[in-house]
Amino acid sequence: MKGLVKGLGVTFKNLTRKKVTYRYPDVPLKMPDRFRGIQHFIPEKCIVCNQCARICPTQCITLTGKPNPDPEKRVKVIDTFDINFEICILCDLCTEVCPTEAIVMTNNFELAAYSRDDLFKDKDWLVANNTNVRSENSLNKRAKGAN
Ligand code: SF4
Ligand code: SF4
Repeated sequence: MKGLVKGLGVTFKNLTRKKVTYRYPDVPLKMPDRFRGIQHFIPEKCIVCNQCARICPTQCITLTGKPNPDPEKRVKVIDTFDINFEICILCDLCTEVCPTEAIVMTNNFELAAYSRDDLFKDKDWLVANNTNVRSENSLNKRAKGAN
């Protein structure tokens, strides 16, 4: 009897505690703003400098440029931009190094797929991944004088 009362005591005590579980996926999870989620790509801002691909520790970014349609401009424009999420570790280095914020982190994280091929995301997919874009990115962080 004493054990039953003790057990019920624990149960009632925990009934009033704040829940530590979520009703995911029925209720979407809101991640903190500094969360490193799947990147969003903005082709108009890309200057094809290749810095993101060069710094990537897993070499999962491949990109190509093409001549600028405007003959007055010598800078190339982006043609293809792909990230292989089989090996991307969402380390944030590509977005930190990008001088124009053409690639930025979002708070999106759902990448589950039945096929490995589906983890290979191209430019159009990355452009369309434009929700929950992280508000603090490399340029505005630098402007604020943060490290
Ligand atoms: S987040 Fe890291 S691993 Fe992923 S593409 Fe960017 S630099 Fe590469
Ligand atoms: S995304 Fe940024 S770092 Fe990568 S090639 Fe374009 S401008 Fe350069």
